[in-house]
Amino acid sequence: MYDIIVVGSGIAGSTFAAKISKFAKTLIIEAREKDQIPKTTNVFPLHNRPFIQEVDWEDKQIFPNLHMKTNYKGYNVDGIINTEEFGAPLGNMTYLEELIKKFLQICEDQGCTVKNGERVNKISRKNNCIEVYTSEGKLYQSKVLVISTGSHSFELQKSLGFEAPRSYTGVFTHLYGNEEKIKENCEYNYIYHVNPSISKKGPLFINRGVERVEVGYLGNSSETPERILLKFDRILKNYKLIQPYIEGLKSKSKPIVVKISKHALKKFTQDRVLILGEAGGLVTDFFYEGTLCGVASADIAAKTLKPLLESESNFTHNELIEYETVLKRILLNKYFKNGNASEYLFFNAGKSLKILWDTYTKLISISQRLRRDIWEAYRIQDIENYNLSGTKWAGESLFKMLPTLTKISLGPKFIRALFK
Ligand SMILES: Cc1cc2nc3c(=O)[nH]c(=O)nc-3n(C[C@H](O)[C@H](O)[C@H](O)COP(=O)(O)OP(=O)(O)OC[C@H]3O[C@@H](n4cnc5c(N)ncnc54)[C@H](O)[C@@H]3O)c2cc1C
Repeated sequence: MYDIIVVGSGIAGSTFAAKISKFAKTLIIEAREKDQIPKTTNVFPLHNRPFIQEVDWEDKQIFPNLHMKTNYKGYNVDGIINTEEFGAPLGNMTYLEELIKKFLQICEDQGCTVKNGERVNKISRKNNCIEVYTSEGKLYQSKVLVISTGSHSFELQKSLGFEAPRSYTGVFTHLYGNEEKIKENCEYNYIYHVNPSISKKGPLFINRGVERVEVGYLGNSSETPERILLKFDRILKNYKLIQPYIEGLKSKSKPIVVKISKHALKKFTQDRVLILGEAGGLVTDFFYEGTLCGVASADIAAKTLKPLLESESNFTHNELIEYETVLKRILLNKYFKNGNASEYLFFNAGKSLKILWDTYTKLISISQRLRRDIWEAYRIQDIENYNLSGTKWAGESLFKMLPTLTKISLGPKFIRALFK
């Protein structure tokens, strides 16, 4: 019997297991083989750091470069957040596959068992434990089960009575070149651009690592994978706004179509069971920050479970509810509201989306206050006390700058967004 079984070792499951396996007999079951963790180049803001004490921030294999410059790319004017203006980086860029490998190494060093290439296909509840069945025909038992399966296994959480978050599709690929060429093409570590013809519910983005950039878009809900791949190919070849940044870079493999889920669940705990990361819809609206949510939910879950393991608890819902309460207090009650209000406003703007986005990027370019607020949002170390007055001020300033007709059509949405 294990103390804890973790199903899924993406960023949420691997961070959690690295924290808890010091104190508990832990088993990780991961459907992918060890060498199949997909390569991803992610924006990793400084506000993620309080939730991770286990890694070396100078490790260039994991954090290839600092995040110095972001471009909220408009059609006419770019909204640029340049670290030089405020004196400190926005955080890091990370190769997420390397961060996950590091956490799994820590787990193994602490005596945790990792089963790769096994898919959990059934979970059942017994009086004093949880039983987990896998594709290999194996049965494992544990006192606590942690579901961190991302958007890949909603049927498992549903079988236990949890809900599933809303799911969207995205696509991404890596393009490669030598570092001088990549820097010559693109001075920004991160480009975020909104175009309703590409996606009505998410951005087109470029994340710059070293000798590689990740390009993709998120938030589609209606297109088939085949159509998404064809459209993405056209964007990479023809979309004028991004051509200078990717010119001369080469791809080495086919783009990958992925699911991404957001809109946090209402409940994350039951007797003996917790849900972490994207499986719980823990990805911010509008900005699609999933790594913050993965590492924060992992840290909060580990801190909840440690004293319960020491007191040989029965891990009842009443005892585990602390995880849910703290998760809501730290992540959902304030920080999530920023993305929530932005998503409501931008991705419900219909035909006015382009003009709204263009006005927003213009506002960033002229307002040092907004640039500073964005810079601070990346860097805040105490996310629980995120100050929403900046979001409100940005909304009001944006509204004032809109053309009269757009003001009339979007007025009610601005008012509702204020109360999000
Ligand atoms: C293209 C793209 C770009 C992104 N960029 C950023 C970014 O720059 N910054 C940021 O903060 N966020 C970003 N995100 C979001 C973020 O990467 C994800 O939300 C986050 O990585 C999810 O982590 P997770 O551990 O919850 O889930 P996952 O990474 O999906 O991990 C779940 C794991 O569970 C395993 N699994 C699933 N089902 C089973 C099963 N039945 N049995 C065993 N194993 C199972 C899977 O194989 C997988 O390894 C991006 C997302 C996408 C799609």
